[in-house]
Amino acid sequence: MTKRVYSFKEGNAEMKGLLGGKGANLAEMTRLGLPVPNGFTISTEACMDYLNNGQKFTEDLKEEIESYLGQLEKESGKAFNDKENMMLVSVRSGSKFSMPGMMDTVLNLGLNDENVEHLAAVTNDEAFAYDCYRRLLQMFGDVVYGIDTSHFENFLEFYKRKNRVQLDSDLTAVQLKEIVHEYKRIYLEIKKQEFPQEPREQLFAAVTAVFNSWNNERAKVYRKLHNIADDLGTAVNIQLMVFGNSGENSGTGVAFTRNPATGENKLFGEYLINAQGEDVVAGIRTPNPISELQDSMPEIYQEFLAMGERLEKHYGDMQDIEFTIENKKLYLLQTRNGKRTAHAAFKIAVDLVDEGLKTKEGAILSLDPQSVNQLLHPIFVEEALKNAELISKVGLPASPGSATGRICFDANTAKEWTDRGEKVVLVRQETSPEDIGGMVVSEAIVTSRGGMTSHAAVVARGMGTCCVAGCSELEIDEFLKTIKYPNGELTEGDVISVDGSNGDLYVGEVELTLSEKNEYFETIMAWSKELSRLDVRMNAETTSDIKTGIAFDASGIGLARTEHMFFAPERLIEMRRFIISEKAEERRAALDTILNYQIDDFKGIFKANNGHSTVIRLLDPPLHEFVPNKTQDIERVAKEMNISYNFLQHRINELHEINPMLGHRGCRLAITYPELYLMQAEAIIRSTIELKKEQGLDVAPEIMIPLVGMEGELSLLKEKVEAHIQTVMKSEETSVSYTLGTMIELPRACLIADELAKDADFFSFGTNDLTQMTFGFSRDDAAKYINQYVADGILPIDPFQTIDMDGVGELIRMAVEKTRQIKPTMKIGVCGELGGDPTSIEFFDQLGLDYVSCSPYRVPVAHLAAAQSAIKLKK
Ligand code: ADP
Ligand code: MG
Ligand code: MG
Repeated sequence: MTKRVYSFKEGNAEMKGLLGGKGANLAEMTRLGLPVPNGFTISTEACMDYLNNGQKFTEDLKEEIESYLGQLEKESGKAFNDKENMMLVSVRSGSKFSMPGMMDTVLNLGLNDENVEHLAAVTNDEAFAYDCYRRLLQMFGDVVYGIDTSHFENFLEFYKRKNRVQLDSDLTAVQLKEIVHEYKRIYLEIKKQEFPQEPREQLFAAVTAVFNSWNNERAKVYRKLHNIADDLGTAVNIQLMVFGNSGENSGTGVAFTRNPATGENKLFGEYLINAQGEDVVAGIRTPNPISELQDSMPEIYQEFLAMGERLEKHYGDMQDIEFTIENKKLYLLQTRNGKRTAHAAFKIAVDLVDEGLKTKEGAILSLDPQSVNQLLHPIFVEEALKNAELISKVGLPASPGSATGRICFDANTAKEWTDRGEKVVLVRQETSPEDIGGMVVSEAIVTSRGGMTSHAAVVARGMGTCCVAGCSELEIDEFLKTIKYPNGELTEGDVISVDGSNGDLYVGEVELTLSEKNEYFETIMAWSKELSRLDVRMNAETTSDIKTGIAFDASGIGLARTEHMFFAPERLIEMRRFIISEKAEERRAALDTILNYQIDDFKGIFKANNGHSTVIRLLDPPLHEFVPNKTQDIERVAKEMNISYNFLQHRINELHEINPMLGHRGCRLAITYPELYLMQAEAIIRSTIELKKEQGLDVAPEIMIPLVGMEGELSLLKEKVEAHIQTVMKSEETSVSYTLGTMIELPRACLIADELAKDADFFSFGTNDLTQMTFGFSRDDAAKYINQYVADGILPIDPFQTIDMDGVGELIRMAVEKTRQIKPTMKIGVCGELGGDPTSIEFFDQLGLDYVSCSPYRVPVAHLAAAQSAIKLKK
């Protein structure tokens, strides 16, 4: 029989797969001798067995749990139903990856109508005993019987208002008894079932419910969002209760060892006196900042501080710790690596290296490359802020970033509106796991209740969405869909601007600009460059894009497209003359004019790129993109060109293609109109010569021919282009160095890469077209069905975003191998969207490519991903 249950003393932090993160860390803390209430963990394997075997609880598993229960009773000297030493436990789910609020917990399990009196007698505190009981009834009802918590909460609210009780903790024993009475009635009304009185029956029902919760909708949405596999299962922890709700010397809280929003190295958290479990997080009362514990219970504070430091050292990372104080004794109930904003993540990673708690490699691996984008989040323009109308300044800066959007009061509306292209801000009194779907699509999240560790704050930080929490000046009516604030009122659909970095809210749209880079980001980038093997280039051709890429330390341009250069009006007319005219000299004249423009273009690119490597791709799109298609435009262009409307229309019809993506484009254009590429090659060479003469700048351009699928295409064009370049250099009585290569973007090109390699100085995989051509998916239209493919599991992920290793990746691998046999050191790179995708970058690194090239704003992502890949490959 396989072991399915582990006591906290048997596990350790390495066992997250089997015991879940919570269980593994409870075991680790136990091993370290920290004050963790005793307990045991039912493994994730037991959960998957249960789910895979028709949700049947085997006798074997039952027996194993019984034996661990017996051990727990023995070691604690307590037992279920024991009058003097009553055992109560919590039943806590916990899977390999932390899923905040996704799964469910039941506290105070073991109480019933009879023994609650014993607890009252032993503790001499009836209010306490009944407080525990009403909590059990609510949590058990919710988790095990699926009775919506609102039934309990609404009653509690109503009851408190009726009896003028402000706080849960002010309820008297008599009142709590009445509440318990009503809760039991809710069981009968909604579930038509009594609350089970037998502790063991409660326990097994709760364990079963936790197993089943693995497949509830919230959990599924969360897993999908975070790419977590569906077959991991959740573990179940059974743990002795400690009571933060047992009076003024007790309490409960959560704290991060560093600030999860800014990274500042200072204990950060909240606690509540005389409270239990989720009270802090759920925003029931406004919690106190952890710093106040220093005054109210100085010894406990010091003890906690020391434990936090110890855990941080032990795990080499910032910890998120749950604690409870029972009669001035401190217990730890959970620790995990704390979720943090990108800003905090970069600072903490660098600080931990400085403090000797992490290696550079460890720091690099701890960061999520995609989170770099958050660092580069836009911020509000100072001037615009000065003129903006303030709604409130009292909100908590729960997750940084700035955003604007239309107010929605519920998740469904948020989803509907974003589906039709609107930007929304989700505004709620507080959020709960049910709101996840709406939170994901929102630009920002605003709540009127809850603190820095509330559900909204934690989830928003995890997603990198800007969030202002606990904005108590807002009177939010989710039913009437209005927000009242000191100076006015807003309703659904109104636009607001949210600053998650300081908690400010503004009416209307405030202009955004890119944020400043910071020193931690710079340090991580420097380390990344130092540790990676792959070079990162940029796809760029405008001066401003090139500047951006250089600022991010791109090592060159991997793809400069030349087509957009033809679209300026004065050039377009020449290009049209070239395409339309039937007279040879007219066409030549047109090309000569374009040549001069192109010389300037290329000089601009080379200069902006400081003479670094630059790949220039020759003209790629089909010619019909350059001609007008609306009657009015055709009339105007015919006039401009001094030709008849009918003739122009006739030429346009000739150029029309049923399937332009598979049409007369790329090198195919140059097979029929070689003079186009000769002109471009000449412009490249002449601009190089001029730059050398004028500024002493040495440039060795890399000229790239697109869409080659046959050996003859490349050899023919190479011969013509090189001959022309020779003529140009001869006429200028000088020579420049350049290389001539091709893009590999057709499956056929991969298959004959060794043939092509003979005529090429370099290759660059154009993964957008290669993916399109391999799948036969039009990249402009495929989004419609790709999502369905992914949802149905036909595709693991959109292949235009992350490399399809089995198909496209296999073609690339084959092409690289064939090429290396002919030219072992030939330069091979990637341009296209996948060049900026971390998973794909790792794949390209494994193939030994020389560089990836991506859009300038993804360059930092790529640097970090390349470093991570290099570190992993070395291991
Ligand atoms: P989550 O995964 O949502 O954080 P937890 O299982 O950690 O759920 O528990 C919810 C709350 O109950 C937490 O605040 C936790 O500290 C508290 N809690 C869990 N087990 C116990 C226990 N044995 N004694 C006291 N409080 C507990
Ligand atoms: Mg927890
Ligand atoms: Mg292409």
